[in-house]
Amino acid sequence: MTIRYLLAAIGVVVLAGTAAAQGTAPTSGKRVRRLLIHNATVVDGNGTPASGPKDIVVENNLIADVIPLDPVAMGRGGRGAAQADAVIDATGKYVLPGLINAHAHLQEERGGKPQPIEYELNIWLACGITTIRDVGSDTRRALELRRQSAEGEIAAPRIFVYPMFGRPRNAEEARARVRALKEMGADGIKILGIDRDTMAAMESEAHRLGLRIAHHAGVEETNAWDDINFGTTSIEHWYGIPDAAIEGGVQNFPSSYNYNNETDRFRYAGHLFREANPERLTKVLEGMVKANVAWDPTMDIYEASRDLQRAQTQPWFADYLHPVLEEYFKPNPANHGSYFIGWTSTDEMYWKENYRLWMAALRQFDRLGGLIGMGDDAGFIYQMYGFGLIRGMELHQEAGFHPIKIIQQATGNNAKILGQEERLGRVRAGFAADLIVVNGNPLENLKVLYPSGVDEIRNGKVVHTGGVEWTIKDGIPYHAPTLMARVKEIVAQARKK
Ligand SMILES: [Zn+2]
Repeated sequence: MTIRYLLAAIGVVVLAGTAAAQGTAPTSGKRVRRLLIHNATVVDGNGTPASGPKDIVVENNLIADVIPLDPVAMGRGGRGAAQADAVIDATGKYVLPGLINAHAHLQEERGGKPQPIEYELNIWLACGITTIRDVGSDTRRALELRRQSAEGEIAAPRIFVYPMFGRPRNAEEARARVRALKEMGADGIKILGIDRDTMAAMESEAHRLGLRIAHHAGVEETNAWDDINFGTTSIEHWYGIPDAAIEGGVQNFPSSYNYNNETDRFRYAGHLFREANPERLTKVLEGMVKANVAWDPTMDIYEASRDLQRAQTQPWFADYLHPVLEEYFKPNPANHGSYFIGWTSTDEMYWKENYRLWMAALRQFDRLGGLIGMGDDAGFIYQMYGFGLIRGMELHQEAGFHPIKIIQQATGNNAKILGQEERLGRVRAGFAADLIVVNGNPLENLKVLYPSGVDEIRNGKVVHTGGVEWTIKDGIPYHAPTLMARVKEIVAQARKK
């Protein structure tokens, strides 16, 4: 039991003495019939400002009621707090919809070495992630984990499975593959490195069967114009967007360039936005908006390219980086995304410029009315599960988005990308009870979302605070510090071996 857990319990003892809310703190991992989150400040997932205090009543796996407690609302006949089987005192805390990670990979190994799934699932929950879109892993295993999560058998976010499509040889094979994935129970499909004819066929078949499509558009035959023409749901990462805006259609690669050499690939990716023609880029972004192609930029996952030292020395590595993942992150041409041998200050300079142009394009896309989501693609390139999503939120702030909008991108917008906007991504009666209770105000400091917390000065004293305190997924409350204590234990044990 952690100190914070004890404090949570004490908080409830104090609360029990008030008339507003009676009850005991929930047990981590155990759903009660009626859970009350009392006296919360709410930031919803629809881009509206914070409001409160409010009581949120969760019944089984649904948000049953959101009750304003302010005197004006009470004067209008607002009701007082409800009775409940368990109470979370959210006084001074912020409640948000559970975060959605739109670009995740379920990983039980790295570089061929086993890594326990509990490690990744616990960190996701502790970072406030209640839903993931898995865009490529072992599909049968992902479907099994999806079921176990849905039935509450494992502590895990909700899982939407978008299997990797592979590279069918022709249109007929592409259609057959879509049908096979539908039959397996896939929620959508992830495409990567696909040619135009097979992409056209797979997209039309997927639309017919109601499967959504996430496209990792690399520097390939297809680019954002194909997503616009065929109706892709979301472009993952970013390459296909500036690539569609290059004069002459091909980037100015040196003659020695080899796309299969990851150092080449990532090095010259850092020159891509500067080679895009701004007017053409605007047309591409307008095309995406018109065709409802969303953009899930996964900004965290390229950050090592612009600042390798930062990426390699993230403070949470000390306690929470699994040795198998640590080994995988080391520069090694055999591992995807570990391309940093010989990475130069010049490479970083190009990538810093690339980020500036990328951020400007993202803001322009937003101004034009485009739908922006968020995913972390963690487990590669020094990004840890969950932490990467929060870092992504910080990068969206650097891009110029207001934190209210960033929370919307990570919740309501991602729900739209998943086609779940009537069920997920909001603090609203009738929606799934996927909520997080945050120790601190994420609108002031997104860093309060990191499980490692933040230090603040209060009355001249340094206070360690922050972190998600409770992640409620499908009505099941998980005590985040308890989950992270378990992660720490997993890591310590694995390091001993
Ligand atoms: Zn990925």
